[in-house]
Amino acid sequence: MDQYDVVIIGSGPAGLAAAFGLLKHSTSSGAAPLRIAVFDKAKTSTGGLRNDCKMNFTYPVGFPEDIWNRDSADAYLDMVKEDLHPGILARKNLTVYRRRGEPLGVQLLEVDQAHLGTDGGLKLIQTLTAALEKQRVDIFLGEEMTGLDEQARQITTTTRTVGFEYLLIAPGRGGFKFLQDTLDTIGVNYVDHIVDIGIRIETRIEHYPIVHDYYDPKFLFPGRVRTFCTNSGDAHVVQERYLSRHGKTYYSVNGHAYSHRNAANGLVNFAMLKTIRFTEPLASGQEFAENLGLQAMLMGGGHPIMQRVGDFRMGKRSKHSSFSGDLYDFEPTLRGCTPGDISLSMPAKILRDIWKSMKALDTIIPGILHPSTIMYYPEIKLYANRPVFSDSNFKVKDRIYLAGDGAGTSRGITAAWASGLRACFGILKDLGISSPLPD
Ligand SMILES: Cc1cc2nc3c(=O)[nH]c(=O)nc-3n(C[C@H](O)[C@H](O)[C@H](O)COP(=O)(O)OP(=O)(O)OC[C@H]3O[C@@H](n4cnc5c(N)ncnc54)[C@H](O)[C@@H]3O)c2cc1C
Repeated sequence: MDQYDVVIIGSGPAGLAAAFGLLKHSTSSGAAPLRIAVFDKAKTSTGGLRNDCKMNFTYPVGFPEDIWNRDSADAYLDMVKEDLHPGILARKNLTVYRRRGEPLGVQLLEVDQAHLGTDGGLKLIQTLTAALEKQRVDIFLGEEMTGLDEQARQITTTTRTVGFEYLLIAPGRGGFKFLQDTLDTIGVNYVDHIVDIGIRIETRIEHYPIVHDYYDPKFLFPGRVRTFCTNSGDAHVVQERYLSRHGKTYYSVNGHAYSHRNAANGLVNFAMLKTIRFTEPLASGQEFAENLGLQAMLMGGGHPIMQRVGDFRMGKRSKHSSFSGDLYDFEPTLRGCTPGDISLSMPAKILRDIWKSMKALDTIIPGILHPSTIMYYPEIKLYANRPVFSDSNFKVKDRIYLAGDGAGTSRGITAAWASGLRACFGILKDLGISSPLPD
C-alpha cells in the first residue's frame, strides 16, 4: 500500500496551493521533505483554474465573510500574489458608474483583477503541475477518492487503498455530494443553506461598454443581486452538467473567454445572481437548486432556456424565430438551448429582483436591455457545505482538513488558493513546522 505524509484530494487551486505551501515551508524549516500525493478524479488537471481564470485580489470577493476578515484575507492574498504573479488590470471611469448607481442603491466594488482566459489558465496549470512534479509531488489524475477509513488513516480510490498521515480534501463545487457523504462517514455536521440562482446575460459588447474600463465589474444591487463572472472579447456561454441526488441530469449555464483572440466575437456575457439564504426551516440549498434545475430542464426539454430581452419585456416566450430578424443580430454562443419563457420556470421573487436589477444596470450603462440581449437560465452556484470546523485552519477531525469551494471556505480561484494555504498552515502546525500565519 502506498503511504504519504499528506494526501490531497482535488487538484484545483485549493489543493495545488496546499501542495506548494507544504513543500515551501517544510523545506525551508530544514525538515525531511514531505511525501505528498494529489489525486484528481478528472483526467486533466486542474479544477476551476481551467475556466476563464479571472482572478480577484480584493476582499471580500470570493471570501465568505463569516470565516475571513479583511486583515487575514489581505495577508493571504499577498501570498497568493507571490505564488501566481498576476498582472493586475487597469480600471477607468469608476466614479462615473458609481455616481449613476448611487441614487438607485447600486454599489460598484473596486476589485484588483487579473485575467488569463481559458487558454492562459491551461498554461498556468501546466506550469504549476510541472513545478510540483519536479519537486517530487505525485499527481494522480483520473483517480477518484471513493472512501475514507478515518481510524486506519486510509483512503480508497477507484483503483487502490492509500495511507496518509494528514488528509486535505478540496473537491470543489463539483464534489459537493462526495463531500457530504464523506462528512457523514466521519460524523462531521454541516449545513448547506445558501445558494445563488440567476441568469446569464449575453449581449454585444457595445451594449455593455463598461468592460473596456473594468474587465469584470462587480455591481451589488438591492435584494442581494449581483453581477458575476463577466467575460468579453472572445466570450462564450457554456453549460455544466450536474446530477441530482436521484440521478437526474440538469444543466447550469456559465461563461468563459479566451485571452488571445480579444474581440474575436464581439460579445460579452455575465451572470446576474440572487443569493438565497434559508433560515427557518433550514432547507438544503443544493436540493432547492436541484429542483429549480430540473424544473428548467422540464421547460427546456432537457436543455437550459434562452429568451431574448425583447420577448421577455413583452411577456412573450422566445421561439426559434426570435433568433432571426434585424433586431436579433447575433447568434447565441450556447447552441442547443431551448427558446422559451424564463418566467414560467424561475420563482417570482428571484425573477422580480433580477429584472429590477437589470433595469437599474441599464440605467447606469444604457444598452443591456436591447431587445437582442439573451437571458440564459438557469445559472446556479451551489455555495457549498458549511462544515463545523474544529479550528481556524479548517480542520474537521484529527489530521483531516478541508479547503476550497466545496467546503465553503472560498468562492473563487484566489480565495480557494488562500484557503488551501490556510489549511496547509494547520497541517504544518500539527507537524511542529512553523509557518508565516497562525490561522
Ligand atoms: C465555468 C466556470 C468558470 C469559472 N470562472 C472563474 C473565474 O474566472 N474566476 C474565479 O475566481 N472563479 C471562477 N470559477 C470558480 C472557480 O473555478 C472555483 O472557485 C475554484 O476553482 C475553486 O477551487 P477548488 O480548489 O475549491 O475546487 P476545484 O477547482 O473545483 O477543484 C476541485 C477538484 O477536485 C476534483 N475532485 C472532486 N471530487 C473528487 C474525488 N472524489 N476524488 C478526486 N478528485 C475529486 C475535481 O475533479 C476538481 O478537479 C469558475 C467556475 C466555473 C465552473
